[in-house]
Amino acid sequence: MTQPSSPRPATRTVRCPACGGPSLFAPENRFRPFCSERCKLHDLGAWASESFRVEAQESDGAEVPLDGGGP
Ligand SMILES: [Zn+2]
Repeated sequence: MTQPSSPRPATRTVRCPACGGPSLFAPENRFRPFCSERCKLHDLGAWASESFRVEAQESDGAEVPLDGGGP
């Protein structure tokens, strides 16, 4: 008697947040969820620079004049 057991891989693949490619989500992948060290470093760098970047948003036009109103 044979048991039909399909060999399921214990590892699964996730999408690398940095490059969007397949990344091995397993203990052997030290850079998970990233696919490689490069992607991990790249993402950390991007995250850091983005957190430090303050974008000043200027309101274009539409300046409301203060109308005090006469007596
Ligand atoms: Zn990647």
